[in-house]
Amino acid sequence: MGFTEDMILKAMKQNGDGSTESLLELLLTYKAIGDDPSVGNGSASGCAPQTVDDSDDDGILEIWDDEGAGGSSNMSPNSDDSGDEDFLQETSQKDEKVKSLLKMGFPEDEATMALTRCGQDASISVLVDSIYAAQTAGDGYCGNFSDHEDISYGGRKKTRLMEGNKKKRKRFGGEGQGSRGALDGSHDEPMPLPNPMVGFNLPNERLRSVDRWLPAQAIGPPYFYYENVALAPKGVWTTISRFLYDIQPEFVDSKFFCAAARKRGYIHNLPLENRSPLLPLPPKTIAEAFPRTKKWWPSWDPRRQFNCLQTCVASAKLAERIRLALSNSEDPPPLRVQKYVLEECRKWNLVWVGLNKVAPLEPDEMEFLLGFPKDHTRGISRTERYRSLGNSFQVDTVAYHLSALKDMFPHGMNVLSLFSGIGGAEVALHRLGIRMKTVVSVEKSEVNRTILKSWWDQTQTGTLIEIADVQTLTSERIESSIRRIGGFDLVIGGSPCNNLTGSNRHHRDGLEGEHSALFYHYFRILDSVKSIMERM
Ligand code: SAH
Repeated sequence: MGFTEDMILKAMKQNGDGSTESLLELLLTYKAIGDDPSVGNGSASGCAPQTVDDSDDDGILEIWDDEGAGGSSNMSPNSDDSGDEDFLQETSQKDEKVKSLLKMGFPEDEATMALTRCGQDASISVLVDSIYAAQTAGDGYCGNFSDHEDISYGGRKKTRLMEGNKKKRKRFGGEGQGSRGALDGSHDEPMPLPNPMVGFNLPNERLRSVDRWLPAQAIGPPYFYYENVALAPKGVWTTISRFLYDIQPEFVDSKFFCAAARKRGYIHNLPLENRSPLLPLPPKTIAEAFPRTKKWWPSWDPRRQFNCLQTCVASAKLAERIRLALSNSEDPPPLRVQKYVLEECRKWNLVWVGLNKVAPLEPDEMEFLLGFPKDHTRGISRTERYRSLGNSFQVDTVAYHLSALKDMFPHGMNVLSLFSGIGGAEVALHRLGIRMKTVVSVEKSEVNRTILKSWWDQTQTGTLIEIADVQTLTSERIESSIRRIGGFDLVIGGSPCNNLTGSNRHHRDGLEGEHSALFYHYFRILDSVKSIMERM
């Protein structure tokens, strides 16, 4: 298992008469914090802790098994080797990381600076955030609020065009939101992301409001709203935008709306005037959101917000390893222990719940951060709750964008909700006070459909029609729905991001991946609604 003799002796001494399991825990902790007596002042590099999710769910393990979240790609069976091999290994890890950052479109000097600032054992997502933080005045420390699932990787992908749709759309002109230059339409160029990622405007920041021009084809009815992860592989947003009438995406990090980051891109044809936030405004810091944690929060943990809430959480074993590392250290712990603990806390959004005691967020705490009512997802397994919440909209963010519609539909609206999940869009509209006359909701997961239906029955008077698969929503079915209800006012949805996220190492195929390609169904269905409604 790669433990040195000295390490084992030290652990046996400290472990006393403890069990083999606690001996192993102790050894893993030594490795994680680099506390190997044989190496002296070791580093955690090359021996990431083996945090294992308790669930046996394939999808979740797949996401967990990731350099962004789990750090397991840094693991080396020879992590105790010393001398040249260690040096070579570290150098190649460093090169790999620089290469990844270059592929993501960051300049080389920024990539190497980030590595210097955060150390070579820092995950890619921490490095990305460090680069962003360095670019943003005032963000003073490395590895702040990141979206672990949002790591972008380069790679040339073929553009796939919809069968039967020969409209080859040209790119939108003009500047992107950010300061990284204009978009040139090449699939080799990453979509410039704004920094800070605040979208077209934020509540109470009217001055910065953007006046945008929408191509004629994009103007409704219906209004539409499409969402996906902001940091997708190169070319993905370029393609999505080209299909969605060349509209410039609005990239927003939900950390400006709540206490957790969530970097997402939204393409929509909604008006930008008259936006207003949901009230009461949600807390924007961890301390405000969960005041009970203040008592236990160590002064050396500078986190004020959470990273992106994910579909899986850390195991109890990791919390135990952290407790051991801290209780075996003086107060405050040495820097290398602080660094190890902080990295794990950031990676897994751990909160302080007792002396030296961290824990993952509970599902109801995630519901709160994401703007859902309490117990919205209660009644399904914890694993399923985390998965559904990890994939959902941040309600306050989406509601802010949709708020422009409130005065336009005083008698309510008909909504086509694609990939509805647990109903982030429906909850946002409801919280805005927009009546939903009819919602046609398309969602594959039965568990998610049940959650939406039960919320609907408790809160709504309109009609909910549930369909299981976007692939079965043919233009004939769309036309008959439109004729029955008189047309859709809003087509809303975010297609699965499974193949777009950096955390999914095995299936990061970009927009052509099995799940992500469902975007093309969003486009097909929207285009079909538009042309049917134009004919009516
Ligand atoms: N916006 C949603 C979450 C979207 S995540 C929310 O607020 O909860 C993407 C969703 O697409 C997942 O819930 C997934 O179950 C669903 N999905 C995957 N394949 C689908 C398909 N073929 N048809 C319809 N929904 C699908």
